[in-house]
Amino acid sequence: MQLFLMEESTSVSKTEYDLIIIGGGPAGLTAAMYGARYKLDTAVLEKETPGGQVTLTDFVENYPGFPQGIEASQLAKLFEEHAKVAGAEIISRQVSKLVKHGEKDFEIFTYHGDSFRAKSVIIATGCNPRRLGVPGEKELTGRGVSYCAVCDGPFFKDKPMAVVGGGESALTEALYLAKLTDKLYLIHRRDQFRGARVLGDRVRNHPNIELVLNSVVTEIHGEDKVEGVTVKNKLTGETGRLDVDAVFIYIGLIPNIEPFKELVETDDAGFIKTDERMRTSTDGLFAAGDVRSKNLRQIVTAVADGALAATSADEYINS
Ligand code: NAP
Repeated sequence: MQLFLMEESTSVSKTEYDLIIIGGGPAGLTAAMYGARYKLDTAVLEKETPGGQVTLTDFVENYPGFPQGIEASQLAKLFEEHAKVAGAEIISRQVSKLVKHGEKDFEIFTYHGDSFRAKSVIIATGCNPRRLGVPGEKELTGRGVSYCAVCDGPFFKDKPMAVVGGGESALTEALYLAKLTDKLYLIHRRDQFRGARVLGDRVRNHPNIELVLNSVVTEIHGEDKVEGVTVKNKLTGETGRLDVDAVFIYIGLIPNIEPFKELVETDDAGFIKTDERMRTSTDGLFAAGDVRSKNLRQIVTAVADGALAATSADEYINS
């Protein structure tokens, strides 16, 4: 019933555009804002709420112009509003397949059963969280295993929790969760963090965070809900159990490229290769943001990618 209502509320009157952007995160929404300002008839197809991965965090400290930081949800709303004010449309659709019929003629198929046509397409689909792949993870997802601290953390207020990972996401979310509990374990497979040093220092000095370093989670326990994790120290081989009510997994990202994989070249990790003008290996098809092969995945680089991709799309359409 819910699905039916969603389909009804997202019916569209128009399916042909100059530029279609797939994915409504910072890269996609910026590309939409630029595309619309270039006077291209522009639409964004977004499968969930616009904002992308930004909406999965609570606070953003490193976006220029906001020296005190900004609520992630507020920043996402501002990106969306800016794209709309510029004249872009945002349509609720999950893309299943992209086909290029000829020059300036792409067809985008959706899981709603409809399709859209565009002269140029920008892929800004971002990434999904990588899974740990240990026993208990799949079974207990949504019952204490989570990939979104800001969504699920409040359910475990004052309870012991664990974060797995040592990148920017794990550190950021550990600091968020440590505001909700005084017992947070950060489990990382090395003793150095990959994430920003300023965050690493804050985590190391936080009274509510206990570091479990050089260690990996080998199993997540619980019947109906998470009750604990087994942790193995990689240096000593010793295993032990930590009693926690929730495990937040932040061990990296898998790019969302399934609908386009025949049209784009990727690097070894599956991220889309582009040149500095965001061109993929298919003429007229561009990629922007986290889905692209790059070495700094931040909101600020995503929005820059979006601006460049829209500029290149405009050149392609008007060439
Ligand atoms: P990431 O930077 O790839 O870090 C993944 C972490 O998980 C690493 O510490 C890695 O350990 C660990 N790991 C990977 N596979 C593992 C496994 N199988 N078992 C245990 N640990 C594993 O991922 P991320 O933190 O999700 O960040 C993704 C991208 O988003 C990064 O480019 C990051 O800079 C960016 N980001 C930006 C912002 C922002 O703009 N404010 C916020 C968050 C993230 P090793 O270190 O040993 O490899």
